[in-house]
Amino acid sequence: MSAPAPVVTERLAPDAAGLARATALLRAGGLVAFATETVYGLGADATNEQAVARIFAAKGRPHFNPLICHYPDEQAAWADVEPGELGRALAAAFWPGPLTMVLPRRAASRVALLAGAGLDTLAVRVPDHGIARALAAGLGRPIAAPSANRSGAVSPTEAAHVLAGLDGRIDAIIESGPCRVGVESTVLDLAAGHPALLRPGGVSVEAIEALVGPVGRGVSLAAAEAARSLRSPGLMVSHYAPRLPVRLNATLVAPNEALLAFGPPLEGAGLTWQLSENGNVSEAAARLFSGLRALDARGLAAGLVGIAVMAVPQEGLGLAINDRLQRAAAPRPAGQAHLSDLEAQG
Ligand code: AMP
Ligand code: MG
Repeated sequence: MSAPAPVVTERLAPDAAGLARATALLRAGGLVAFATETVYGLGADATNEQAVARIFAAKGRPHFNPLICHYPDEQAAWADVEPGELGRALAAAFWPGPLTMVLPRRAASRVALLAGAGLDTLAVRVPDHGIARALAAGLGRPIAAPSANRSGAVSPTEAAHVLAGLDGRIDAIIESGPCRVGVESTVLDLAAGHPALLRPGGVSVEAIEALVGPVGRGVSLAAAEAARSLRSPGLMVSHYAPRLPVRLNATLVAPNEALLAFGPPLEGAGLTWQLSENGNVSEAAARLFSGLRALDARGLAAGLVGIAVMAVPQEGLGLAINDRLQRAAAPRPAGQAHLSDLEAQG
C-alpha cells in the first residue's frame, strides 16, 4: 500500500474553535483523530469515498476491513441502516455507548461503499463522548472512524499514542484526555437474524443478554478466523501487537520479562504495569492499552525479552480484555511487526 503524502498534523483544543476547525477539515475530506469513550478514532466523512480511502492509507489498513460509522444520535444512524425491533431496543438501552451494531444497509445510504468494504451491511454506533457526537452533529454526515493507530498496532487511549503512530499522516487531532472505557466497542451482528457477538468490547455480553437473551458467541479465536474473515474481515487473529512477544496466563515471571499484572503482582519481573490492584475488570480495561504500550517501550529500552500477562477473569469487560490479549499474543503475519516498529519510531 502506498504511503500517503506527509501532512502537518494540527493539534486542536477540545473547545468550540477546535471543533469548528475539525469540522471544516472533515468537510474538506481531511482526516481528524478524536477521542471517544472507548479509544481514539481516526475520522473521515463517511460519505466521501476519497476521504475514506485516506483512512486506509494512513493506517495501512487492508481494504477488506470495514469501518464503523459514528452518529450524533440514533435517528441519524437509522438513515443508513434498518434497525429492526432488536436494533431499536439495543439502541435505546446502550446508546450513546460502546455498542456497535452490524445492520442491513439501506439502499438510500450515502455512506461510501469502501467504508463498508462492499458488504451489504454497515456497522453503526453513537459514541458516549461529547467531542465525538459534536463532531458528527456539526458535520451533518456520519463519521467513519476506526481506531487511530497504524493497522495491527495497539489501539490509542491517549492523544500521545495517536501522535506516536500517525503524526504527519493525518490532518489534525483534537487533544482531549484519556479514554474512559479503554477497549473498543462491542460489535454485535444483527444482520444474520439472531444476534451474534463479533467482538467483545465496552458493553458486556452479560448486559446485552439480559436484554435480548442468548447471543451467539464462544467460538475459539483460532476456529473463528476463517469464518470471521468472511463475515467480519477485520477480526483477524493477530492484532494489537506490541513488538515484544506476549505470554498469557503467567503464574511465574522472569527478571528479564515485563509483567502486566492483574491483582497482587507476581514477584521478580523486570518491570511491572498494574492493570487493577484490586482486580476490577473495568479499571483494567481502561489501563490495558496504555500498559501494553508502556511495557513494550520501556521493556525494549531495558533489554527485556517479553511481556508476561497474568490471568484476567472471563467476565464483564474481562471478555474484551482477554480477546485483545489473545490477539496481542497471536503469531504475527509477515510484515506486521514492521508496522508496529514504524509506529514506535513515529
Ligand atoms: P475498528 O474500526 O478498527 O475498531 O474495527 C471495526 C470492527 O468492526 C472490525 O473488526 C470490522 O471487521 C467490524 N465491522 C465493521 N463493519 C462491519 C460489517 N459491515 N460487518 C461485520 N463486521 C464489521
Ligand atoms: Mg482498530
